[in-house]
Amino acid sequence: MTVPLLPGPTPSRDDAEVASYLGAPPRLLADVEAALLDRREPVTPAQAYALAELDIDAPFADGDGDGTVLDALLALAHRVRVAWTSDEVALESIVSGKTGGCPEDCSFCSQSSAFDSPVKPQPLLTVDEVIVAATDAQEQGASEFCIVYAVRGPDDRLMANILELTAAVHEHTAMSVAVSAGILTPEQATALRDAGVVKYNHNLETARSFFPSIVSTHSWDERWATLDLVREHGMEVCSGGIVGMGESATQRAELALELASFRPSETPLNFLNPRPGTPLAARSPLSPRQALHAIALFRLVLPWTLLRLAGGREIALRDLQGAGILGGVNGLIIGNYLTTLGRSPQDDVRMLADLDVPIRALQDVL
Ligand code: SF4
Repeated sequence: MTVPLLPGPTPSRDDAEVASYLGAPPRLLADVEAALLDRREPVTPAQAYALAELDIDAPFADGDGDGTVLDALLALAHRVRVAWTSDEVALESIVSGKTGGCPEDCSFCSQSSAFDSPVKPQPLLTVDEVIVAATDAQEQGASEFCIVYAVRGPDDRLMANILELTAAVHEHTAMSVAVSAGILTPEQATALRDAGVVKYNHNLETARSFFPSIVSTHSWDERWATLDLVREHGMEVCSGGIVGMGESATQRAELALELASFRPSETPLNFLNPRPGTPLAARSPLSPRQALHAIALFRLVLPWTLLRLAGGREIALRDLQGAGILGGVNGLIIGNYLTTLGRSPQDDVRMLADLDVPIRALQDVL
């Protein structure tokens, strides 16, 4: 019998050690660099908390001249990304298999039926629709296609739709298929794996300590249990979160450390895009520099992961998308998100060409 991986305790914050690092940012960055690049070890919890709590606008002088702490963080995050992954960026397209009408009450989500949001329930995606979306995505350079359902978890009808659409994408494209459909049973995980679903997305969303402020209809531990099931069934774990919901810098580090303890192969990083009608509608998005800080933090705490910029990146990063790519990111969701418009895939492909960053070729994922 496989013993489920229970959520470990959130790494505690050693206040004295964190304070000592915050008083000496050059020492913090030197220690982080030595761990990640010289010894190829993950950062310590104290280093992660200090990285999250740094004053990014403070001056920082190094051998390349004067800049800010943020400049130094991004440069280190880029070196770590290249050393632990590669210089390539992987593109993924997502499509909504079921939009709106979700019974859960995630405060950031316009697809929840708990809020009076303009997003109304739509019929399930059809095979013809998924073939058009998937072939378009492949032509635009995507190597992975993710079908996302706004549900607590799939019922029999939804499972039939997932399996039908997965088969259609396999038949008509060479992309790998990922699915996101909420909380799974063991039987459903088996069926997805047997259908050739390579990766399952289920975001932890936010730190365990902040989760009850954001969601009341299910728990963080239930999310963790589904990640455990996905891993146990041999699918890759894709799990990340959303930043800018009112969590503290410390809680941002908590989320990164909690994710790191599970070692997801992919980590989508979403930025709050306040949606009308949701409880977070009036919250201001992160500034571009705060968003870049979060990117560098997640890269340094999760050095092996495919760190993918996801929803809200246009709102939070604005014109600094390229700085994110050179600050630790190695994946992009291209095209539109589930309920919001993204920028055009052509703009992203041109940006990567301008930055001289190669796109991961389709054959590399087969
Ligand atoms: S985030 Fe997912 S589970 Fe939560 S309300 Fe939205 S669709 Fe439902």
